[in-house]
Amino acid sequence: MSDKWAKELAGAIEAVRAAARVCRAVQLKLATPEAMQKKDKSPVTVADFASQAVVAARLAELFPDDPLIGEEDSRELRADDQSTIRTAVVEQVRSERHGAGEEQVLAWIDRGGATGPAARAWTLDPIDGTKGFLRREQYAIALALIENGRVVLGVLACPNLALGGVTGVLMTARRGMGTRLLTLWDDNAAGQPARVAATRDTAGARFCESVESGHSDQDASAKIAATLGITAAPLRMDSQAKYATVAAGEASIYLRLPTRADYREKIWDHAAGAIVVEEAGGRVTDIDGKPLDFSLGRELTANRGIVATNGPIHDAVVAAVKSGH
Ligand code: AMP
Ligand code: MG
Repeated sequence: MSDKWAKELAGAIEAVRAAARVCRAVQLKLATPEAMQKKDKSPVTVADFASQAVVAARLAELFPDDPLIGEEDSRELRADDQSTIRTAVVEQVRSERHGAGEEQVLAWIDRGGATGPAARAWTLDPIDGTKGFLRREQYAIALALIENGRVVLGVLACPNLALGGVTGVLMTARRGMGTRLLTLWDDNAAGQPARVAATRDTAGARFCESVESGHSDQDASAKIAATLGITAAPLRMDSQAKYATVAAGEASIYLRLPTRADYREKIWDHAAGAIVVEEAGGRVTDIDGKPLDFSLGRELTANRGIVATNGPIHDAVVAAVKSGH
């Protein structure tokens, strides 16, 4: 097997594992999810910032010249009235980066401020699926490397996802080299190749979509499913865990149908997930069947929505989407 991107893969896995430990620690401290959703989202904020700092710190050591396009920046965190959250972020980061000072932590977070495009850049969602994190359901830490507008490496941690008998999933992919499924919490366990389902029968396909109806049009997807003859209920889950589920063959379709004409997908919401599905044998396009263009900066400005499938049924799914949306 080629050794291309081997150092990048090893570094990305270390970084994402460290971030997942931080997120899990914050999640274990959460008060009741219900109270949290209504009153206090601060634990999410702490985990978002701390996760980004931990990933950025590792990338800075290994690849100091690589830009990072991350979801978060420290602007709000630096405000005087944010000192409680700021202190909590620093404390969480110190569990992975002993003795790190406040300025250092803020600077790591701000390494994620690159706008792109660059010949080579990383993109990070430090917590994808915030709502799922709050509900203690699915969320992900998603890191990907983009070279010349093409995703070439993806590492996707899904701390609460169960696949192949393992709870806490790490999926990794390098372009041309396949996708692997590893145990997130055990550095020593051998991984296994991940493969999409072989199905060519759209009626029997399982499809997944967002829990949040504001993120994907669920009425439209129900009509598309009916067009395809699908009778099974959709598998609703937050975050890029949907891509991991397709990559492992436990579902064959992920639909993300725009709810607003002006929304543009963020690259960190799709880069890692898309390569994980493609390298497992699947296909990923937008709802018009166009390839995703990761060369345009922080957003997929040339694309609308997402269709990810196991591959053989892709054209049929895109045709159904076009006729119904
Ligand atoms: P999911 O967990 O799949 O529902 O996706 C979570 C992601 O949805 C977040 O990371 C946001 O970046 C993204 N998001 C926010 N608003 C929208 C929207 N109106 N349409 C699509 N995605 C959105
Ligand atoms: Mg996200």
